[in-house]
Amino acid sequence: MTRIAIAGFQHESNTFSAIPASWEKFERSGVLEGDTIRQRYAQSQSTLAGFLALGPQAPGVQLEPLVFTRLTPMGALTPQARGNIFDRILDALRRGGPWDGVLLALHGAAVAEDCDDPEGELTAAVRALVGPAVPIGVTLDMHANVSQRMIAQADVTTVYQTNPHIDAREQALRCARLLLDCVAGRIHPCAALAQPPLVVNILNQGTDEAPMSVLLARAADHQRRPGVLSVSVIEGYPYADVPDMGMSFLAITDGRPDLAREIADDLAALAWSQRAALNQGGLSIEQALRAALAGPPGPAVLFDVGDNVGGGSPGDGTHLLHAARRLGIGSVLQALRDADAVRACQAAGPGGLVDVMAGGRQDSRHGAPLRLRGHVTALSDGRYQAKGPTHGGFSHYDDGPSASVVTDEGWGLVLSTLSSGTQSLEQFRHLGLEPADYRIIVAKGVHSPRPTVAPIARSMHWVATPGVTTADLSTFEYHHRRRPMYPFEADACLP
Ligand SMILES: [Zn+2]
Repeated sequence: MTRIAIAGFQHESNTFSAIPASWEKFERSGVLEGDTIRQRYAQSQSTLAGFLALGPQAPGVQLEPLVFTRLTPMGALTPQARGNIFDRILDALRRGGPWDGVLLALHGAAVAEDCDDPEGELTAAVRALVGPAVPIGVTLDMHANVSQRMIAQADVTTVYQTNPHIDAREQALRCARLLLDCVAGRIHPCAALAQPPLVVNILNQGTDEAPMSVLLARAADHQRRPGVLSVSVIEGYPYADVPDMGMSFLAITDGRPDLAREIADDLAALAWSQRAALNQGGLSIEQALRAALAGPPGPAVLFDVGDNVGGGSPGDGTHLLHAARRLGIGSVLQALRDADAVRACQAAGPGGLVDVMAGGRQDSRHGAPLRLRGHVTALSDGRYQAKGPTHGGFSHYDDGPSASVVTDEGWGLVLSTLSSGTQSLEQFRHLGLEPADYRIIVAKGVHSPRPTVAPIARSMHWVATPGVTTADLSTFEYHHRRRPMYPFEADACLP
């Protein structure tokens, strides 16, 4: 019997956010062990589902899920959170060993207050524990800020190649198959990583559109060459002030280091030639609202880029609602995080009247609190299950106690205690609000809402709102990133 351990943690850390990713928050989100992991994720489209899918395809292989936790993006991990997560994973590996292989479900853009590269450090610790002969397979999010250390400590690394991320399961299954080939001695992977001094703006990260689609097509061409095991285009995550922040390109071949280097460098050069197109776009708030009203009838979706929950924003930004009120726009649907406003709704009860200040509480960059008057239409515990495809392949969401309110001007609002962004329209429907009935839907995200909103959207607009995840990167003060780097230093060049 071949025994393969499964473990991991996933967090995207926005170092410009003041809200720390504490151990309590991970515990509330769920630190899962053993069969609970299988129960929660086996039927999803997530990374863990991909790892577990190897089982039925590989007789004689026993997959053992040990520890997994994930948390909505916010600020850096506290030392306690990082320490506890590492201890749980390493203890479980130590207790259950020896292993024939280890699969790690990671993100790649985590930062801890006491460590710039937690994924690199964890992979190195796992390597030290299992020794050089036991293969390690790692999966990363396409927003990973990849370090040489992560790649060097693993035998194979695969990365989501779609944004929105709808191939998490597929990439994880690919990783698991490559790991099994390593265990059997059928392949001898060698990797090359290219890290051009380049950022891709969040607005240009959609993989269905150029220039990202051009880069992915070139990567797919390389992937078909003999001796090539895996080629990954990695967008990186610009809201983390760390040395490895930025785009990267990873090629893994079967024992051919020169070929791996050639492919990684070719992709880096192609991206560099597209650097201006990778950093453009965005509408002002008023431009976006007017464009939405000028479009075809039916819902126009406005992506609130500065309050992108999936990028580490709080989800209580009010810039768009203030502007909609100024412009007298009545048919708007959005979710807004505000625990106090939820309590006021609970006190009023369904059908009751509320008159509250809501939003704009977590961070002044996200706009001032907004006065809301209207009727509570429903209350919930904030748990809902997605129908249809979602970013990352997840299916269960928990926004904490929530309420729906229809305001005097006709807005439909979901007020929530926590926020998971707008990843599923069930966020509205489970509280009785039908998104298709609204003229404008404000989505708290940039790419992650697309799988759920695209089927009903008549037009889509990306709004350059201020905030912790603003598209305007010049508003952040970086201390640890590489220099020079495009677009911050226009004269940066490819080494
Ligand atoms: Zn991502």
